[in-house]
Amino acid sequence: MQQRPDKKQPASLSFDSQAVHAGNLIDATTGAIRTPIVMANSYQLPDDPSSLNWSDSQTLSQTLLYTRNLGHNQLCLERKLAAMERGEEAVVFATGVAALHSIFFTFLKSGDHVVVSDVTYEAVWRLFSELLPERYGIEATFVDIGDLDAVREAVRPNTKLIHAETIANPTTKVADVEALAGIAHGAGAMLSIDATFTPPPMFRGLEHGADFVAHSLTKYINGHGDAMGGAVIGRAELIHRLKGDALVDVGGSISPFNAWLIMRGSVTLPLRLPRHMSSARKVAEFLDNDPRVAYVAFPGLPSHPQHELASRQFGGMGYGAVMAFAVKGEPAVQNRFVANLRLITSAVSLGHDESLIVHVGKDGRGGSECYPDAFRKYGHLRFSIGLEDPADLIADLKAALDETFA
Ligand SMILES: *Cc1c(COP(=O)(O)O)cnc(C)c1O
Repeated sequence: MQQRPDKKQPASLSFDSQAVHAGNLIDATTGAIRTPIVMANSYQLPDDPSSLNWSDSQTLSQTLLYTRNLGHNQLCLERKLAAMERGEEAVVFATGVAALHSIFFTFLKSGDHVVVSDVTYEAVWRLFSELLPERYGIEATFVDIGDLDAVREAVRPNTKLIHAETIANPTTKVADVEALAGIAHGAGAMLSIDATFTPPPMFRGLEHGADFVAHSLTKYINGHGDAMGGAVIGRAELIHRLKGDALVDVGGSISPFNAWLIMRGSVTLPLRLPRHMSSARKVAEFLDNDPRVAYVAFPGLPSHPQHELASRQFGGMGYGAVMAFAVKGEPAVQNRFVANLRLITSAVSLGHDESLIVHVGKDGRGGSECYPDAFRKYGHLRFSIGLEDPADLIADLKAALDETFA
């Protein structure tokens, strides 16, 4: 498909304008001003297809041939995400986990070592504690990435990668990205950051030294709970290798429809994110002040162990909009509390327009032995603050507390 040249020059625009325009292409066939959904599996080949080099980086990043490698809607979304993260290139996948796996699969081989945060998304925990070591001979050391000396000590001559989440799911531990990048690069390794909890413009990991920024697009960037996707953003040379190995030859490609939905959802990211974050602070303060609540883990509270780091690193924009807390009592009490909520929905996932809460017991998942004491004593409720009026959210929480402790 031919596109008209992009007159808007998205790289020079502010974030809010990029969120509207970056990656969007006027359709040359119909004149449609928003990129239409192109559901084709294949694109027309040149007259002499033998002239094509299917694995060269230019072809992988710009030439539409087969939708597993690159389709029109993927291309637009990749350009938009690269602009928003201020990276050279982006690659999109069907899910956040596929995007994370693509980094590990492409850049690690048998005999390599990885330093991983001891609090990570569950799939990453299992990949490094079980699947990659057992199947591929990749070694991993889990460390408290809040303890930079421990990170330095965990690095070995064969360490190729350090991996952490900017704000970790679910304990909200905050990673010092610049310090971790310094340790990784000093050891000849790379740093990958899962920035799902801290999308731009709140934070741009590449500008703090990360080699890869990964997102679950399923969360804030799409923001409406109706499509799954993942992305990795970084230097062109690295993203080309990642596309060649983990996209073309493993698959996991996002559908054109989901890429289009995420393109559309991301238009309002600059409006949604500040609202998510300001509501989260109000809700966290309410919970923190209620004696029936056992603890609240949220980087915006001064009691959070990395509150100062979060304030500095996220430039005062906010602290994300996910928190973990527990009410005082046994798991049955936590469940009763959740059942008493009316507005807040009990479901997994986060970063949606609606507020979501999920009760995870004490032995909920791999790695939970590394969680703070309060998590191990009470379990936790992971709570993603949505776009409802915060006064309604607080009223719902208060009514459920009253009913649970009546
Ligand atoms: C949800 C999530 C993922 C996984 O993303 P999917 O799109 O569900 O595959 C990875 N990392 C973090 C921090 C997440 O919250």
